[in-house]
Amino acid sequence: MFFVPQLIYTAFWVLTFCLSGLFLGGCSSSSSKEMPKSKTKQQSLVVNKPNPTPLDTAWKSAHDSTLVEVLKVDKSFILDIRYATTNNFMKIKVYPCDKCLLRKCAAEALKKANDLFKKDGFMVKIYDGYRPLSVQWELWNRTSNKNYVANPRKGSNHNRGCAVDMTLTDLNGKELDMGTPYDFFGPEAHHTYTNLPAKVLKNRQKLKSVMESVGFKHISNEWWHYDYKIKYSVLDQPLPCDKAP
Ligand SMILES: [Zn+2]
Repeated sequence: MFFVPQLIYTAFWVLTFCLSGLFLGGCSSSSSKEMPKSKTKQQSLVVNKPNPTPLDTAWKSAHDSTLVEVLKVDKSFILDIRYATTNNFMKIKVYPCDKCLLRKCAAEALKKANDLFKKDGFMVKIYDGYRPLSVQWELWNRTSNKNYVANPRKGSNHNRGCAVDMTLTDLNGKELDMGTPYDFFGPEAHHTYTNLPAKVLKNRQKLKSVMESVGFKHISNEWWHYDYKIKYSVLDQPLPCDKAP
């Protein structure tokens, strides 16, 4: 009889302990405890996003997207900007002057290529670089063969300042034989066309290998056209014809 209250007392505390363990354990293992963790993770991502890391900053400075005149990057480039003359497939002048612009990173890569070509006795001659979007519309509207002019609704890499049309000359400025003239719209201008003299194939291969080594890519149907590896937005900024060269 003496132990009954003590047993009841003990049983009460054991039951209380188990119940509290059940409820507390249930809370602690529920997902509601994990929610704040994931929220904190998301918040920290959002907070960190606008702050560029040193790597981002280095990437941006190494890939400057400003449009620059190529002659200011390398004054030894030879310019023959055909759309500033009537010597082009449309036979009309569509550029008000013969300035050639590219995104700075592309212009610097082209300078690297020119330095490499010069070691072998060649020089870069440029037919076209940045092309304002309004001029792209003019080319599009005047061209019957749409396979050779990019649709201005999508934009050409020329409109992005990320493409160059070019050839090579010797150190006297004489053009190397590339098999066809610039803007020749036919299979003979394709990279896969091999029914050409060995010297022509060698010249095309020289152009392609050096350009690809500095970050440009060829396209299949124009031996003269090279796209820079990074794409930027399409622009319709006019050529700076009123500025001194
Ligand atoms: Zn081109």
